[in-house]
Amino acid sequence: MTDLNTAIREKLQAAHRILILSHIRPDGDAIGSMLALGLALQDAGKQVQMVLSDGLPAAFKHLPGAEQIRTQAEGEFDLVITVDCSDAARTGGSLPAGRRPDLVIDHHITTEAFGSLNLIDPSAAATASLLTRVLPAWGLTITPSIAANLMTGLVTDTLGFRTSSTTPEVLRQAADLLELGVDMSALYFRSLVRRTFAAARYWGAGLSRLQRSNGIVYTSLTLADRQASGYSGRDDADLITVVSSIDESEVAIIFVEQDSEHVKVSWRGLKPYVDVAQIARQFGGGGHRAAAGAEVRGSLAEVQERVLRLTQRALNHP
Ligand code: 5GP
Ligand code: MN
Repeated sequence: MTDLNTAIREKLQAAHRILILSHIRPDGDAIGSMLALGLALQDAGKQVQMVLSDGLPAAFKHLPGAEQIRTQAEGEFDLVITVDCSDAARTGGSLPAGRRPDLVIDHHITTEAFGSLNLIDPSAAATASLLTRVLPAWGLTITPSIAANLMTGLVTDTLGFRTSSTTPEVLRQAADLLELGVDMSALYFRSLVRRTFAAARYWGAGLSRLQRSNGIVYTSLTLADRQASGYSGRDDADLITVVSSIDESEVAIIFVEQDSEHVKVSWRGLKPYVDVAQIARQFGGGGHRAAAGAEVRGSLAEVQERVLRLTQRALNHP
């Protein structure tokens, strides 16, 4: 066992009250990783609070332990852990004031070591993959409930085992989780395929304005679209995955209006030579080579103009 894993195991053993946090606009890996680690620590006798400042999206309410997720931390903690989260700001204010995480567990290439202990492996396809690997080394048991959460992280971050990050290790991990009795087909369907009617109408608004120029295919989702469709999330309802499937483009981008001064931007690199994490970084965001995001200050029109200009520059288009 590595020194880092030994140090983490000792810290976990010594702690009683543990807080687990992840990022705003949480996805399947953030939620699955949080629940897997939280349930494993509870099984080991720890008191655990799991906090997502944006709350739990309806698409993940079926996961074991999901009912425990709250939107604010309450009380004192011996140990604070972040999962799948690149920096303190991305916890959405749920990190207790003045506190640095004791342990950061993540797989994003742009994540700085902002914890006291940092388990960051950009080669891992998902934070849930990292956890599947290390939980046993920390003396924690993967039960069927924990396995369902880990599987959700694997399935969502690999878009159903089809990203280039899908290694033999990931498929072996999925096979091991299946052997624990996980219903992969149901988890896959619920987290990646099934949509609400409102989400599909929201997609429609974005798709009706789809544009393409200089290798970039892009669209926006406005607050008015959200209201008209009845979609309740602050995200793109995963429209970026649909737009990423469009041929003959190098980069896909979606702009989601948050309020009059903030826009959430998502980039997807559609060619192996494009590194969108570096583009997102120029806007204070981050992510992976092929998938990255940032929250950018400005009106929708301003942000769109700046982001398209700098993305074109990164692609070496005049
Ligand atoms: P999405 O575009 O789906 O929100 O995110 C794509 C990838 O970029 C994910 O791995 C996500 O964690 C990361 N990401 C999205 N937004 C931000 C951001 O504002 N800051 C950082 N550091 N990473 C982000
Ligand atoms: Mn992830």
